[in-house]
Amino acid sequence: TQLYDLIIVGGGPIGLACAIEAQKKKLHYLIIEKGAIVNSLFNYPLYMTFFSTAERLEIGNIPFNCLAPKPGRQEALEYYRNIHRYFNFNIHLFEKVTEVYQLENAAFHVGTDTTSYEAKNVIIATGFYDIPIEMNVKGENLPKVSHYYKEAHEYAFRNILVVGANNSSVDAALECWRKGANVTMVIRKNEINNRVKYWAKPDIENRIAEGSIKAYFESNITEIRKNEVEIETPDGKITIENDFVLALTGYKPDLIFLEKMGIQLSGDELKIPSYNPDTMETNVKGLFLAGVICGGMQTHKWFIENSRVHATMIVDYITSK
Ligand code: FAD
Repeated sequence: TQLYDLIIVGGGPIGLACAIEAQKKKLHYLIIEKGAIVNSLFNYPLYMTFFSTAERLEIGNIPFNCLAPKPGRQEALEYYRNIHRYFNFNIHLFEKVTEVYQLENAAFHVGTDTTSYEAKNVIIATGFYDIPIEMNVKGENLPKVSHYYKEAHEYAFRNILVVGANNSSVDAALECWRKGANVTMVIRKNEINNRVKYWAKPDIENRIAEGSIKAYFESNITEIRKNEVEIETPDGKITIENDFVLALTGYKPDLIFLEKMGIQLSGDELKIPSYNPDTMETNVKGLFLAGVICGGMQTHKWFIENSRVHATMIVDYITSK
């Protein structure tokens, strides 16, 4: 087995940013990505708009051409594909990393679903978009329930229920309502989340106030059945007719995967992985974290804009060792 200087697990924007720095420093590196390049973005809603302006999604100082201030999914895919065309990364797509452990010589064994590798350093940049946070209610596994939203068309002229009050839920509720769906929202708190994009927040609040979209605040789904849903509201339990449920209740990183590698997580419900904020090195020497995964269950703390810097921090440290 050849020994890499660095293996990067995850070909999201931050994994790619790490590879750019590794390439600049002439490290012998490999990116391993379990899906398509920037797989999370590929799975975003088709017509989403980023909250970041284009230049804040740039990596490797390569300009992101975009006509509107904020790009959508398609333009971002175009951009990151061009990043690969430009840098010609050493990347394996559709290969999943299944285990990472340290060998006696302090190098790492990186096992995948097809083969295995060895590396002196490993960066975990696996993001958070693969595991939905479940509601744990009866009927959640019915085929009409989805934790991802793609586009509105199939929901037109149907009764749909959107769970949650974050960006994903608000975007889906508005888009589906505009395409003719009868939309009801079930929201755990008593308001729309403050993180919702500044242009979408008044839009959803006004649609709710005028009654175009029905919202149950301080409420929870208690059961999903084939043609109806049961909701616990402050005024008691109600049952409404329903064809589809979009449970956009958030996603969580694969923290068990981190624990198996020996990375310690904080004991509280945030489960923040332990790492040195100056070098991004975890409690396991030579094993680094980059991107959204660093926040543990705080999946809103790190995003593309503010975690691009992890790439230089890590590679500068590795090359100075
Ligand atoms: P990801 O992009 O999630 O990349 C992780 C990659 O690792 C994935 O491609 C995944 O397939 C791969 N992977 C996972 N496990 C394995 C494994 N075992 N083996 C191999 N590969 C693996 N952020 C912004 O900065 N601005 C925005 O405007 C913005 N808008 C957003 C809109 C939506 C709808 C969503 C859902 C998120 C948005 N974000 C935004 C957040 C942003 O998507 C994430 O912060 C960003 O994707 C983080 O990049 P990353 O490289 O850390 O993780």
